[in-house]
Amino acid sequence: MFTPFRDIETKLVHCGERAVEGAVCLPIFQSVTFASRPEDGYHDVRYIRLNNTPNHQLLHEKLAAIEGGEAALVTASGMAAITTALLTFLRVGDHLLAQDCLYGGTHGFVTQELPALGISCDFIDGTDPDSWECLLRPTTRVIYVETMTNPLLRVADLPAVIRFARAHDLLSMIDNTFATPVNFRPLEMGFDLSIHSGTKYLNGHDDIAAGCLIGRGEHVERVRHRLNHLGGSLDPHACFLLNRGLMTLALRVRQQNSTALRLARFLAGHSAVERVIYPGLETHPHHARAKELFQGYGGVLGFEVRGGGEEETDAVLGRLKIAFVAPSLGGVHTLVMRPARVSHAGLTPEERARLGISDRLIRVSVGIESADDLCADFEQALAAAMTGARD
Ligand code: PLP
Repeated sequence: MFTPFRDIETKLVHCGERAVEGAVCLPIFQSVTFASRPEDGYHDVRYIRLNNTPNHQLLHEKLAAIEGGEAALVTASGMAAITTALLTFLRVGDHLLAQDCLYGGTHGFVTQELPALGISCDFIDGTDPDSWECLLRPTTRVIYVETMTNPLLRVADLPAVIRFARAHDLLSMIDNTFATPVNFRPLEMGFDLSIHSGTKYLNGHDDIAAGCLIGRGEHVERVRHRLNHLGGSLDPHACFLLNRGLMTLALRVRQQNSTALRLARFLAGHSAVERVIYPGLETHPHHARAKELFQGYGGVLGFEVRGGGEEETDAVLGRLKIAFVAPSLGGVHTLVMRPARVSHAGLTPEERARLGISDRLIRVSVGIESADDLCADFEQALAAAMTGARD
């Protein structure tokens, strides 16, 4: 049978769309509740917090289609997706295995909130599968990893995570924010649940917070039920913007893959740069695994200014004309920041050093500006900072 929506580019534009009054873009249904028939019951109710308005339904179909899942669910933020998913599959007395070097919000939730609910966690080195079994308990229910860690872009042994989860009857969850379904589709590899901060690449325009998860119907249904209680639903206006962003996801991500690789190579060859962290470079410890697993290396990279201290590093950031110094990633704007000061400020200097995050590390999330312009901007910022020049 002819399949019109076969490739991800087509699915991103068309899946889930329904023409209302002939409109090619589904309008925003800014209505809390929807009229039903007198004989309808609770399960027929459509209500914003239940995440089942037409704007939600469109996204659920599109997200499931692009990531190869049976079902999907949007949420008010990436953290709403992560916390609701973990609270769905973990109960008092249960144990979680989570990758070390998690996104800070997730790490905070796991270490500060879950223990108070009677849920314990051990952290695993995602690259060393032999070290996982000794941490397993009869109460372990979930194994949780990220496709690439922030900011060092380490790539866990993802096939081993799936084998381990299957061997020990664990639910495998992955935060796929950094890769996006354009570069990696975890469900096709065998993960149970894929989670995203839609605030990042999926929406891609730095103008909404959103999240989502994709997986088997029964799993997504359980999270949906929990989300209805916890209330982290996505507003229809944000649904509309997320859908609009999704339509250009493949174009943006491929551009960002290519620009990040170009900038990483440029920085690696610059005399004022000491080290560059990007999985697309042969020098990255997990380059071979990233090459084997992913269709692109993503839009985030890190670098350190040679011989400089914090002051020199700040000077480079301060002189950039295109990039904003701001947290977040995955949008059309190039953003730079220092993890030691922002995303990993909650860790002690010793903890950061143990993880390999120096105080001088600069994280760059490339946008969709011209690669030539970006390289020229970093060039002038590095040159000026090195000579101590000021405007
Ligand atoms: N997961 C990753 C990898 C992230 O980088 C972030 C935010 O930076 C989140 C989840 C949380 O997303 P949100 O800010 O949409 O809650």
